[in-house]
Amino acid sequence: MKKVLVVDDDPSMLTLALNRLQTESVEVLTADNGADGLHMAREHRPDVVVLDLMMPKMHGYTLIQEIHNDPALSHVKILVTSAKAYASDVERTLRLGADRYLTKPYDLQEFWNTVSELLEEKRPPFTVRFWGTRGSIATPGEATVKYGGNTACTELRCGDQLLILDAGTGIRGLGVSLVSEFQEKPITGHIFVGHTHWDHIQGFPFFAPAFNPANEFSIYSLHGAEKPLKKVFRGQMDSDYFPVLLSDMKAHLEFCELESEVNLGPTRVSYVFLNHPGLAVGFRIWFSGRSVVYISDHENYGRLAPDGPSPNSMDLDIARFAEDAELLISEAQYTEEEYAQKKGWGHSTFLDALERAAQAKVKRLAIIHHDPSHDDAFLDGILGFCQKTIADRGYTFSCFLAQEGTSVEI
Ligand SMILES: [Zn+2]
Ligand SMILES: [Zn+2]
Repeated sequence: MKKVLVVDDDPSMLTLALNRLQTESVEVLTADNGADGLHMAREHRPDVVVLDLMMPKMHGYTLIQEIHNDPALSHVKILVTSAKAYASDVERTLRLGADRYLTKPYDLQEFWNTVSELLEEKRPPFTVRFWGTRGSIATPGEATVKYGGNTACTELRCGDQLLILDAGTGIRGLGVSLVSEFQEKPITGHIFVGHTHWDHIQGFPFFAPAFNPANEFSIYSLHGAEKPLKKVFRGQMDSDYFPVLLSDMKAHLEFCELESEVNLGPTRVSYVFLNHPGLAVGFRIWFSGRSVVYISDHENYGRLAPDGPSPNSMDLDIARFAEDAELLISEAQYTEEEYAQKKGWGHSTFLDALERAAQAKVKRLAIIHHDPSHDDAFLDGILGFCQKTIADRGYTFSCFLAQEGTSVEI
């Protein structure tokens, strides 16, 4: 059921609004000051907040901004109801992030019509498409047609924004598709690279849109362990290894070394350090009240400290980073038997990924970074193992193994 939170310090207005809303099939919450209203909004994540401007503890202008600036509340629609009718006040509330303004005293039917319009406003599309699902090295061929042979690359469309997670060989196909979609229109995109091992950057020199001077791409990753990010990308295109230089890629390329959360307007991206040889991070993408978490590549800390507490607190931190996400895209490369031979290589087992998703209480888990030695038939078997484990343990999320070329709506 949709939730509406009404924040008003005037008890008669609060009762009036409450009584009207309770005749509809919505859950209604109330608070009689701005600070409690913000607390309730964070705890219950309502769909619509109806708020007064002049309130004790926190006035309405601050409350609008607090809601607007909280990524977990970016889906919330705001209706301001106030006795103030000055055009400058109306303009300011809308500029700060309110969606509608009603002057008190308002007509109760008009009030409900406005709330109901806000409840029905469609959320913008948030789509994930897998272009490269393989880990370590590309493995094309008959045996990998179903799950795919290209290395790490996932496309996200957050409304009109284009985000790309990793630039493994899968990014070549994405580039071809973007060129055909955009035709003459310039392309702007944000490429987030978890770490710069080959399987996460090798497709970049083949990303056709990066050769068109009309296009713009920002590439986000950490400063390298011993050199700047741009130099790391330039290195793989050194003439000893590749015939085209980074400087031949004529799109506007900006290399952005991550220091804090990245704010892209309606979309925000935060990151967390992972346990992998060298430097690696995972990402959380927040958009329109929903989020996708991308964890690749990561070996559970607890696996390397088997005598420590279980689960390991640093692994729980990673799970907390992914908490309540609509989709967790997590790497998993080994069975328990394989892991015994590959401990310390920086990757998860299938069981690790399932436990991570359960700890994080996510709604869906997509497993990526398929091992080069795992063909389609083997991965079908792994999917069966995952589904059986989910059923046996009473986990509530669903799970799939990412297949190259497939899309998921968030
Ligand atoms: Zn990798
Ligand atoms: Zn790696």
